[in-house]
Amino acid sequence: MGSRNNPNRIKIHRFYTVIEVSETLGVHPKTVRNWIHAGLPVVDEKRPLLIHGVDLKIHLKRRRKADIFKCEVNEMYCFKCKQPKTPDIKSLEFIAKPAGMAQMTGHCYECGCQANKYVSWRDVNQIWLELGGKLPIAEEHLILRGSALLNCPFAKEFDDEKK
Ligand SMILES: [Zn+2]
Repeated sequence: MGSRNNPNRIKIHRFYTVIEVSETLGVHPKTVRNWIHAGLPVVDEKRPLLIHGVDLKIHLKRRRKADIFKCEVNEMYCFKCKQPKTPDIKSLEFIAKPAGMAQMTGHCYECGCQANKYVSWRDVNQIWLELGGKLPIAEEHLILRGSALLNCPFAKEFDDEKK
């Protein structure tokens, strides 16, 4: 993630044009215009549009929180590392939930903190492979209970194994 979009680069006592924001943060000017459309305040309607540093800082901090929901399919947001991280495959578990969903839990590969997110069962194999697993996914990593079994594509395979 690096220092792109880093609010610390913005000085709260100065005004920025769209181009200056773009150059300071290393984002496309179109991205800055999208922020304005999405509610980033501008000083007035005159051209060029000017954005107050303090408004921009607040906006960027809010966006960082939104990044929690922007993990890749095989990542979970680690609250200790404060960014999306891949889990240690040994700690990974998928717990069956209703409506074709699974709760993915595991320990952050960097710091060992536990993280969670909801995924679709359709994505479980892909996540498993991207984390270096081999198919079929090991039974110990799948926790299937009660009526949630109905929606789990793996339930049938395990029934077959038991015969
Ligand atoms: Zn972590």
